[in-house]
Amino acid sequence: MTALRLILVLTMALFAALPAAAQDAARLDLGASSLTAQGPDRGHPRPMQLRLTLDRAVPYRVFLLDGPPRLVIDLKDVDFDQTRPEQLFGADLVPAIRWGRFQRGWSRIVTELPGPYAVTQSGLSTRAMQPVLTVALKPVQPEDFRPRASASTASRTLPEPATVTATPDDPAMPKDAQADRLIVALDPGHGGIDPGALAGGESEARIVLDFAHAAREALERAGIGVFVTREEDRFMGLEARMTAARAAGADLFISLHADALPAGQAAGATIYLWDPTANNAASRLLAQRHDRDDLLAGLDLTGTDDALAGVLMDIARTETQPRSENFAKFLASRMALAGIDMHSRPVQGARFSVLKSPDIPSVLLELGFLTDPVDRAHLTDPAWRSQMVGALVAAIGGWSRDEGARAALLRQ
Ligand SMILES: [Zn+2]
Repeated sequence: MTALRLILVLTMALFAALPAAAQDAARLDLGASSLTAQGPDRGHPRPMQLRLTLDRAVPYRVFLLDGPPRLVIDLKDVDFDQTRPEQLFGADLVPAIRWGRFQRGWSRIVTELPGPYAVTQSGLSTRAMQPVLTVALKPVQPEDFRPRASASTASRTLPEPATVTATPDDPAMPKDAQADRLIVALDPGHGGIDPGALAGGESEARIVLDFAHAAREALERAGIGVFVTREEDRFMGLEARMTAARAAGADLFISLHADALPAGQAAGATIYLWDPTANNAASRLLAQRHDRDDLLAGLDLTGTDDALAGVLMDIARTETQPRSENFAKFLASRMALAGIDMHSRPVQGARFSVLKSPDIPSVLLELGFLTDPVDRAHLTDPAWRSQMVGALVAAIGGWSRDEGARAALLRQ
C-alpha cells in the first residue's frame, strides 16, 4: 500500500467515526434531479417520476395528502438553501412545488399533483456515484386515491417541534410586577419550506424575521415581555403559531408580513383585523395565499374548527375584537406620527386564519409590500426599520395603558 493510499484510508476511517451530528447537511444536486412525465401530453394526468440526486443517503419518508392532492417527501438533514424548486427540470409539470426546512432536522418537499395519484415505487438507490431518491407516481381514479387521513397523523411520526418557552423571568423585577407584565407575541410570517413573497432577491420570511428580532430588543428595553413564534428560518403552521402564543401567555398577537400583490394593488404599511366578511380583492388574495402556504407546506387545515367550536369562538371574539380594533388605531396613529408610508386605508379587515384566536387581541401588520419598489427599499433599510420599531413600541405602550385604564374602570 502506498503512503498516499494509507493516508486516504485513514482519513476515510476518521470521517466514518465522526458522529452524525458533526456532519454537514446533505445537499440536493439540482442539475442531476428531475421531474418527468411518461407518454404524450393529452391534457390528462400522466405517470410521473421524481428523481432527486443527493450528495449522501439520508432517512426519508413519502406520503400523499388530499385537498388538493399532494405528494410529500420528508428528508432528514437536507439543506435546500441554495436551490429553488422552480429551477428543477420538469417543475412546470405540476401546479406547484415547494421545499425547505420544515421542523428541526427535517426538510420537506411538497409537490401539488395535477389530480389523484398513487405512489407505485419509492426508493433510495445508493449504487450510483450519488444516492438517488426515486418516486414513481401513476394517476388513479378519485376513489382509488389513498392520502393520509390527516396531516396530524402524517406528522405524528415527525420529531416533536421545538418546545415553547415564555420569556425567562427577570429576577430584578418583583414577582407581582412580573405577573402583570404585558407579553406580546411577535409572529414573523412564513419560514423554512415557505419563503413567502420573493422579489428583488429578498424573501418575506427573512425580512419579517429580522424585523421581529429588532422589535423584540426594543420592546424588552421598554420592559415589555416578548415571545417570538419562530426564532429561525423554519416552517410553522398558522394554527401552531396561535397555540404557541397562547401557551406563552401572550396578551397581544402581532403577525408580521411583507407580502406580494400584483403591481399597483397595494403599497404602504397596512394593519389587518379579523373580518370573515371582508371581500375586497387584495385581502381575499392575501388570505387565500396564506392558507395555501400552509397547504403547500404539507398541512391540512380542513375541519380544524367544527360548528360548535365556531359558535363558542364567535362569542369569545365579541370581547376580543374591540381590543384588537383599539390596538390597530393606536398603531396607525403612531405610524402616522413616525412618518411611515401607509396604505390609503391603513386599517382593513381580512379573513386571515392566523388572526382567529378568540381570546387574544390579534392584528396582522403588512410592513409593506415586497412587490412595491418603494416599500422594498424601506423594508431593507435599517433606518426605516428602527422608525417602524419605534412606532410599534409606542403603540403597544399606549394601548396597554389604555387597556389598563379600561380594566380599572370596569372594576369600579
Ligand atoms: Zn405573508
